[in-house]
Amino acid sequence: MDNITDLLKVYYSRLFPLDEYYKWLSYGDADLFKLREFSFTLEGDIYIRYQAFNDQNDLGKGLVSMFPVKIDIGAVFNIFPGEKSGSKKLEAMERELVFDIDLTDYDEVRTCCSEANICNKCWKYIGAIAEYFQLIFGGAYSKRKVNLYKIHPSVRRALNIISPIFVPMCVEEQNMLGTEKNINKFLILLPDDDTRKEVKSLFERYTTIMIEYCYPRLDINVTKGLNHLLKSPFCVHPKTGKISVPFNPKAVDKFDPITVPTIHKVIEEINAYDNLDKTVEGDSSQAKRIKDYKKTSLNKPLHVFNEFLRKLELARTKENIAAVEFMDF
Ligand SMILES: [Zn+2]
Repeated sequence: MDNITDLLKVYYSRLFPLDEYYKWLSYGDADLFKLREFSFTLEGDIYIRYQAFNDQNDLGKGLVSMFPVKIDIGAVFNIFPGEKSGSKKLEAMERELVFDIDLTDYDEVRTCCSEANICNKCWKYIGAIAEYFQLIFGGAYSKRKVNLYKIHPSVRRALNIISPIFVPMCVEEQNMLGTEKNINKFLILLPDDDTRKEVKSLFERYTTIMIEYCYPRLDINVTKGLNHLLKSPFCVHPKTGKISVPFNPKAVDKFDPITVPTIHKVIEEINAYDNLDKTVEGDSSQAKRIKDYKKTSLNKPLHVFNEFLRKLELARTKENIAAVEFMDF
């Protein structure tokens, strides 16, 4: 069984985490889920937008009957996205705050890979950005300070992160000064010919160059556009078969993009588990009591996702308490 359609049918009926997914996108409010747009890409590049579902079971039915090769999450709308009747115009009301980091934006500064290829060396760019975000949103490093004049505070914050990794990542691993081609790329960043001629002045421009090589590159349109789609977690990459899994930004260095579970792997794992269970128990009753994803390498990413959901709920409860306190005065 290696036809992607057959694999997707098994994946959606047994492994896709519907309950957790619903818990996330309903945010404690069933209507929010119902008003949410989903977009499915079916085999043969058939693109279906404005799908909407009542709850996790309804979504599950949709996935099993259409087995999309890609799922995108749209905005929460003012009316049910699938609704055709009525005079009200479909309008996007809200959606998650999304920052899109695309490694292809780093093609001119990464020397190990290009385009869709990725290795552990260029994953470090993602690690740097994850750290940067934690810092912006009040992470562990927010109290760190450097003395740099006439530098915008956001750039200064980025520098705190970039500085310690710049030499090992860009100079050493990416070999940014090791070949003539790379040196030329480096020289272009210098302000004038005189400076280019003076090797020493290269180091005076060190800060500028660090920023150019490592400053977070984000597609701002994805963040600004309310109608922009977000690739769903736990959907399967149509070419590589890799499952889109969440990770904890605090442990970004430990995340290995190369060993992300593929749909082929998790289905092999689930079959192997069931077969073994049959041999041991004589029947599959034991296997049925355990959630299917727990039998596969999806268990760890699901653990990360559940932890995220737990914190989301905690934040919601705290918000409620704050609201009550406010009203109570
Ligand atoms: Zn690479």
